[in-house]
Amino acid sequence: MSVLSKRCILVSLCLFLPLAAYAKDDRFIKKRLSMVEDQIQRRGIKDARVLEAMRQVPRHLFVGPRDRSLAYADRPLPIGYGQTISQPYIVAYMTEILRLLGTEKVLEIGTGSGYQAAILAKTAGEVYSIEIIPGLYNQARKKLSGLGYGRVYVKVDDGYFGWPDKAPFDRIIVTCAAGHIPPPLIKQLKPGGMMVIPVGQPWMVQTLILVKKDQEGQIKTRALMPVRFVPLVRMK
Ligand code: SAH
Repeated sequence: MSVLSKRCILVSLCLFLPLAAYAKDDRFIKKRLSMVEDQIQRRGIKDARVLEAMRQVPRHLFVGPRDRSLAYADRPLPIGYGQTISQPYIVAYMTEILRLLGTEKVLEIGTGSGYQAAILAKTAGEVYSIEIIPGLYNQARKKLSGLGYGRVYVKVDDGYFGWPDKAPFDRIIVTCAAGHIPPPLIKQLKPGGMMVIPVGQPWMVQTLILVKKDQEGQIKTRALMPVRFVPLVRMK
């Protein structure tokens, strides 16, 4: 092969590769937009900022390479260590119920893949997220900073105790099922704040609960719907 034709192949490869990468991503963009329309809007989620965040965050990058083709399916997916990333609709529902305006300081318990934290980064102000499994914490931390979600702070700890140094929080979202609402989390909620948390027995159907703290510090709870989350475990 002549030097010239070798150069031609090299140049066409250089031109073609970025396009190929774009086309591959474009396939995910189409899947993501259909996910928002078919699974989320169709089931009644209306908050424009939540819908826009779900259209933007690349969910396929928060699951393992082998599950990428399923990333936009209407189901939870494994993320390693026996844990799961929630179904897209549940992520949207829990985010919408928190009525975020974009300025709130939010605490998440159960960072997992980091996907919910990324959605919160686009819909709230600052996000503090706690993960109990060091392997998941490391993956999520690298992913979130690599994708440019700068206002998400992650730590490895038992989220039952919240994040007292950073409290109080405008909103708290718990993405693992607790046997009861942890009192430290209620304490760390600002007056006028809200928390969403699945409560019930591990490996059974639980109830998603909305907790509101009024300006006087009084607590009101409301059952929202049956859900199934991995359990909130305690550090030994
Ligand atoms: N929000 C996650 C969902 C993760 S599943 C996402 O978007 O991918 C729930 C996560 O809660 C798991 O990663 C699990 O390890 C974590 N978890 C369980 N008990 C915990 C605890 N006490 N403190 C912090 N994280 C906990």
